[in-house]
Amino acid sequence: MKTMKIYKAHILYTREKDRFEVLEDGYIAVGDDGRVTAVADSLKALDGGDAEVTDFGDRLLIPAMNDLHVHAPQYRNQGIAMDLELLPWLQNYTFPEEMKYADLGYAERMYRRFVRDLWRFGTMRASVFATIHTESTRLLIQLFREAGMGALVGKVAMNRNCPEGLSESVEEMVLGCEELIESLELRTERCDYNVELSPLNSRLVRPIVTPRFIPSCTPEMLRACGQLAKKYGLPVQSHLSENKGEIALVEELEGTGYGAAYDRYGLFGQTPTVMAHCVWTEGEELELMKRRGVMVAHCPTSNLNIASGMAPIRRFLDEGLRVGLGSDISGGHDLSIFRMMVYAIQVSKMCYQQNHERRFLSLSEAFWLATKSAGSFFGRVGSFEPGYEFDALVIDDSDLNHDNYSLLERLERYVYLGDDRQIVHRFCRGREIAEPKI
Ligand SMILES: [Zn+2]
Repeated sequence: MKTMKIYKAHILYTREKDRFEVLEDGYIAVGDDGRVTAVADSLKALDGGDAEVTDFGDRLLIPAMNDLHVHAPQYRNQGIAMDLELLPWLQNYTFPEEMKYADLGYAERMYRRFVRDLWRFGTMRASVFATIHTESTRLLIQLFREAGMGALVGKVAMNRNCPEGLSESVEEMVLGCEELIESLELRTERCDYNVELSPLNSRLVRPIVTPRFIPSCTPEMLRACGQLAKKYGLPVQSHLSENKGEIALVEELEGTGYGAAYDRYGLFGQTPTVMAHCVWTEGEELELMKRRGVMVAHCPTSNLNIASGMAPIRRFLDEGLRVGLGSDISGGHDLSIFRMMVYAIQVSKMCYQQNHERRFLSLSEAFWLATKSAGSFFGRVGSFEPGYEFDALVIDDSDLNHDNYSLLERLERYVYLGDDRQIVHRFCRGREIAEPKI
């Protein structure tokens, strides 16, 4: 691979969860395929030939953020409607807002702002729920493509326990999903088994099979979702074990545990799968997730705001589960994944108060969750090791860096105190990403 670009800056990233890699005045080389070819502490060691060098001076260069769980059509509800728990919250606030996305004009206005705001906070990849509406979902996919940012975008499947305007027949759902795959020229050939080789998987913006959650989908709908995932080699996203009332409802509807219900329909790791929350996941459900490599999207602000509980992330890590972070707008109120690291650490400290046997999360662990671990759901994303896609942020923390802090302290201060104003360059798959138009 030919090296096209070399960047110089203070480079920080996490190869392992327990420690940072820190290169003061380091160099990183990026090939013409947008992947890192080498990282080194001197230009000579890099062996980058005569590639152009961009010097970012005293700034920090870190991997970009990944949001593993976010609802684009709940953008307008961000920061309001925090007075109910999950099930009445959905009925009273979320569903009425999502119904508005039948109107393409409204969808465009809101989705443009949503994509711009992800960009602002340095999130270059997101796993996104849209709504049931095929046309506005297509629009959202196009907005991500125009922006040059990576996303998995799900047309939501739901047909029970929801208002009529948000219910679709199984046939309509399947047709809508297949239309999206066809019309976006995403399908070059069918793929039955090998998800790695699926042509869909090299695209920066791709569809993801998205049953809302078990209470919103009949068995026929869930079965159809599992079949779509298998037929096109598509990943799957949904919600799991968020709230005790919800878990009781699933048991009543399906007669089994929550994870086992998804599994029955081919929606639990048969293709790459991410489940949001998992606050109450334990026992067989946890074992099955481990066996199948089902990923957890930990959404600490959402779990606090709608009083769901505290997900036992340390336990998940000890057990070897894959975990990333999600903003879960608008159960969560904050789109910044940097802020999500702070909340994840704070929630883990509350868990630690209850059980001193499980240590709370360190900064390097939270950073790793948000970058390399979450990034693994999108491909080789979230690290600067050779072969990883160059998704990166350049942080100018000069207004926070007034007293000779170490590089690690500067990063910590940025995570705790910084915001979008300090992010001065954003890269996704090797390309610099300009501010999307709203
Ligand atoms: Zn959610």
